[in-house]
Amino acid sequence: MDTLLAIHLRAAQIPDSVHKLKFLRSELEESDVLAAPPVRRIPFPTVVAMVIAALAFLFTRATVNPEHAKAGEALSLPAAVSIAPVEGKIEKIWLVEKRPAYWVYSNGLQIRTEYLTESTVRHYVTWSRADLVENAAEAAMPAGIVFHTTESLMLPLEAGEAHSLVRTREAMLEHIRRGRLYNYVIDRFGQVFRVVPDDEVAFHAGHSVWADARTVYEGLNESFLGVALEARTDGSLVQDPAQIRSGRMLTDLLRGEYSIPGENCVTHAQVSVNPRNMQIGYHTDWAANFPFGEFGLPDGYASAPASIELFGFDYNRHFLEAIGGKPWQGLLTAEATVRRAAEARKCSTAEYRELLRRKYQAIRSQRNEPADRDRT
Ligand SMILES: [Zn+2]
Repeated sequence: MDTLLAIHLRAAQIPDSVHKLKFLRSELEESDVLAAPPVRRIPFPTVVAMVIAALAFLFTRATVNPEHAKAGEALSLPAAVSIAPVEGKIEKIWLVEKRPAYWVYSNGLQIRTEYLTESTVRHYVTWSRADLVENAAEAAMPAGIVFHTTESLMLPLEAGEAHSLVRTREAMLEHIRRGRLYNYVIDRFGQVFRVVPDDEVAFHAGHSVWADARTVYEGLNESFLGVALEARTDGSLVQDPAQIRSGRMLTDLLRGEYSIPGENCVTHAQVSVNPRNMQIGYHTDWAANFPFGEFGLPDGYASAPASIELFGFDYNRHFLEAIGGKPWQGLLTAEATVRRAAEARKCSTAEYRELLRRKYQAIRSQRNEPADRDRT
C-alpha cells in the first residue's frame, strides 16, 4: 500500500494528464501491481480500493473532456432506435422537493447536487441571422443544449463491478466539478448530477458556433447548457435505457424552463469548430447515433450547421470517418446552400467561402475571448 500511496502522491504533482498517465503506467508496471491477479482475488479490499481509485482518477483525468473524441478516432456505434419526437409545446415541469443532496421534479426526474460548484455568471451577445448585426440586448438565459460524452473509463456493467463503477464515477465527477466542465452529467445508471448551475458558465464547448432560425451564437459555453452522458465514442458507448430515460426527462425540464427550441438541442460534433484551419468537428463526441428521437427532439443531424452555411467552414476526411463515412443530411443541405449562393454571385465556391469566413472573423472580433474558451 505504501508503494501505491507514493505513486499516487507523486502522480498528483504532475500537471499534464498524458504525462501523468504515462508515469502511472510505468510505475505500476515496475511495482508489479498490474501483474497482480484479478482484482476480486486479492485478499485485501483496502488495497483493491486504492488501486481502483488511483487508476480511475488518473485514467479519467487523462481521458475526460479535454480532448473529447477527436476527428479520426475509430467509431463503431450501435444504431440508435428512433421514435417520433414529441411535437408542440413543452410542458413546464415543476420542482416537487428540494433536499440538500437532491432535487425532485414533477416528471419524476431526480437531480443529485453533491458535486454542485460555482462558476461565472452567464451572459452573452448574439447576432441576427438575417444580417449578422449584433443584437442590442445581452442575453442571460440558456438558449440551447450541447450534448457530450465524458470519454471516461467504461467498466462492464456487472454486479461484480459495482464498487469500481461507483469509484470511477466519483473520480470522473470530481474532475468535472474542478474544471466546471458541464452543467449536468448523466451517469451509466441514469443518475443526473447538476455540477454547474444553469445561470452559470460551464466550459464544455470550446470554439463553437450554431444558429437557429433567427439568432447566431458563437462560443456556446456562454449561451448553451452542457449535458454529458457517461459514455465513449470508441465502440464501448452503450445507450443504456436508464441514461436515455433520464436524458429525456432532463431535456424536457430544461426545454420547458427556458423555452429551448428543438433545433437548439445539438451534439458537440455539430457545433465544434477549429478557427485555425476553418474546419468543423474539432471535437467529435456524438458525431453519430445521438438518440434525438428518444430525447423528444427532431433529428439534429438533418440541421444545416451554421459553421458551414453562414461562415464558410469546411470538413476533412477524418471528420467524415467520425460521422460514419456518409455526410449528415444537414451537411449536404449547408453545402448546397453555399454552392447556390456562390453561383448567384457569379463567383467560385472557394471565393464565396472566403467571404463567409471574413464574416466569422468579424463576429469573433466583436467579443472578448474568455480566457477559458480553449479549455475543452
Ligand atoms: Zn464534448
